[in-house]
Amino acid sequence: MSEPDAMDDTQTYGDQISVMICESSQVQLRILTQTVEDAGYRVQTAHSAEEVLELMKLMPTDILLTGIEVGAVTGLEVCWALKANPETESIHTIVITASGQERRLEESLDAGADDFIRKPVNMTELRARLRAASRVVRMQKQFRQLAETDALTGAANRRAFMHCLEMETEQARRHGSAVSVVMIDLDHFKLVNDTYGHAIGDRVLIETVKAVQKCLRDRDLLGRLGGEEFAVVLHDTPIEQAAIAAERIRAAIEAMKIQNDLGEAVPITTSLGVSAAASDAGLDTPESLLLAADEALYEAKHSGRNRVVLAAVDQPDSRRATG
Ligand code: GH3
Ligand code: MG
Ligand code: MG
Repeated sequence: MSEPDAMDDTQTYGDQISVMICESSQVQLRILTQTVEDAGYRVQTAHSAEEVLELMKLMPTDILLTGIEVGAVTGLEVCWALKANPETESIHTIVITASGQERRLEESLDAGADDFIRKPVNMTELRARLRAASRVVRMQKQFRQLAETDALTGAANRRAFMHCLEMETEQARRHGSAVSVVMIDLDHFKLVNDTYGHAIGDRVLIETVKAVQKCLRDRDLLGRLGGEEFAVVLHDTPIEQAAIAAERIRAAIEAMKIQNDLGEAVPITTSLGVSAAASDAGLDTPESLLLAADEALYEAKHSGRNRVVLAAVDQPDSRRATG
């Protein structure tokens, strides 16, 4: 019987599944790499466990295939390190064991390794184990995607948004760069529901997300914080540029063409509040940024809606309106 085609199992959402292979023997590493690459995976190689941990910081992998004795740090310690870090804990780890390493194997599995394969490695068995691992990886990615996404609009949900904002704030603090937050709240949305019905309201939310996404760059993230309230975290963006982006978002939402079943136009406007963590403001936290943007949004609502208001950086009590 011929072997099933592995290609389907090497794709996740169109991305190739990546495998990091760690072996101290150069010859063994080359043979494994060839086999895994030929099976359709993207491969990275490492010669020691230390190198694995360094490479993982730069670019985490989906599957790790590692020997048990690989340098001063063992494969066992790699398992511990990966499982202890939330960013790498879901990496599917397969340890390669030699005879006489049963005790080490037991310890590796206890430390969080997901599977093992015995030396000498049978390449047919290796491909089968990688296919099984790929199924788990793909399922985990789908679960993670579901857990991070708002079901109605496809925007990030509140939890995923807060996680991103935490990462961006931390990165801005470390690199002395800026990060901005834009809070977006649809105007009189209750009236939209009351006038046109809940289904049209839902459509407005979906179209709003599409319109905002078109205004963003790859590293920016839009989240639905709840109801008709959204927020954007703008990567490496000072408040002046965030104000321009917010005005673009406001205009894009106002320009949406939504009609009810009778062909009547459903006019939509939004109010937006913008705040930024300046590079010298090490005390900015995700919560304080959101609060400042929320206060600016409140000001936008109370000064007439359909506008952008910036949280002032230096004088917390003063506000500047644009648009
Ligand atoms: P304001 O301009 O002050 O923001 O007024 P508003 O009417 O937008 O604000 P309010 O908080 O009074 O109303 C929000 C409305 O959003 C009420 C709620 O029914 C509606 N809403 C929340 N989630 C959804 C949803 O998923 N779908 C629909 N269609 N409506 C929603
Ligand atoms: Mg509203
Ligand atoms: Mg609201």
